[in-house]
Amino acid sequence: ETLDKGLEKTKTSFFTKLGKAVAGKSKVDDDVLDNLEEVLVTSDVGVDTTLKIIERIEARVAKDKYMGTDELNTILREEIAGLLSETHSGEDSEIRIPSNKKPYVIMVVGVNGVGKTTTIGKLAHQFKKQGLKVVLGAADTFRAAAIDQLQVWADRVGVPLIKQQMGSDPASVAFDTLSSAVKQDADVVIIDTAGRLHNKVNLMNELTKIKRVMQKVVDDTPHEVLLVLDGSTGQNAFEQAKQFTRATEVTSLAVTKLDGTAKGGVVIGISDQFQIPVKYIGVGEGIEDLQVFNKYEFVDSFFK
Ligand code: GDP
Repeated sequence: ETLDKGLEKTKTSFFTKLGKAVAGKSKVDDDVLDNLEEVLVTSDVGVDTTLKIIERIEARVAKDKYMGTDELNTILREEIAGLLSETHSGEDSEIRIPSNKKPYVIMVVGVNGVGKTTTIGKLAHQFKKQGLKVVLGAADTFRAAAIDQLQVWADRVGVPLIKQQMGSDPASVAFDTLSSAVKQDADVVIIDTAGRLHNKVNLMNELTKIKRVMQKVVDDTPHEVLLVLDGSTGQNAFEQAKQFTRATEVTSLAVTKLDGTAKGGVVIGISDQFQIPVKYIGVGEGIEDLQVFNKYEFVDSFFK
């Protein structure tokens, strides 16, 4: 269905490469493992996670003394599902809004261009469809275009956006947004934040300040910090995850642009390397093109 469609290019490419890795070989030997390592790395699974997978397969080959290449597909699939299970306990992993935390505050971070605004819009739409009252906050005040784009999405979805002029203090916008949400008895607040990775200290200071100011309105906020990564950018996505996880406590990931790319491996590598669950994947530009991440569906699509 949609996920299959969305990940079509991803799976075709991975599957084709996997076929080439074992071509003409009946048993898994060092050559096949070398080829497999290359397939995983070029599929953006990341070096560390690739080595982990290869080691696990080597251990199984050593234990059973023999592994046919015809079994490799199944075994690799088990190992990848196992890795995903370490960070994704349930079948799917959407953000569920508890009724005892009102408003539930989601702070969204990520660099410009990754699809942050679009993801916020799609997410607001999903929550609204669940009957929840949503308020958005435009705390990425650095670019006028960021505020305008978020306004376009707020109008499209039909939810209020709290904003100030470009260049105003992001923490002040966040404060206003939470105050307004409390006044309106809203269920969910989604705050857009600075999209530039100028330097680690600035980023950390800015995010810390936003948090501190938000806590003046609602205790223990934000409840979630959602990092948006562009799944088509491979190593850049890993690098951004590294920077943001150093600057703040990221609780969940959204990986975008998995519709037009052969880079779905990023999902496997990033969740493993940073031990943070992927909760959503973006599979298009439309309002409905955000899917709750389901590890079984993902693995199915990756291997079909
Ligand atoms: P931001 O700068 O991070 O806020 O990025 P935007 O939300 O403005 O998105 C940048 C571009 O990526 C826009 O053209 C979006 O339509 C596009 N985009 C966002 N998410 C997806 C996705 O999942 N798939 C595709 N194909 N495009 C996306």
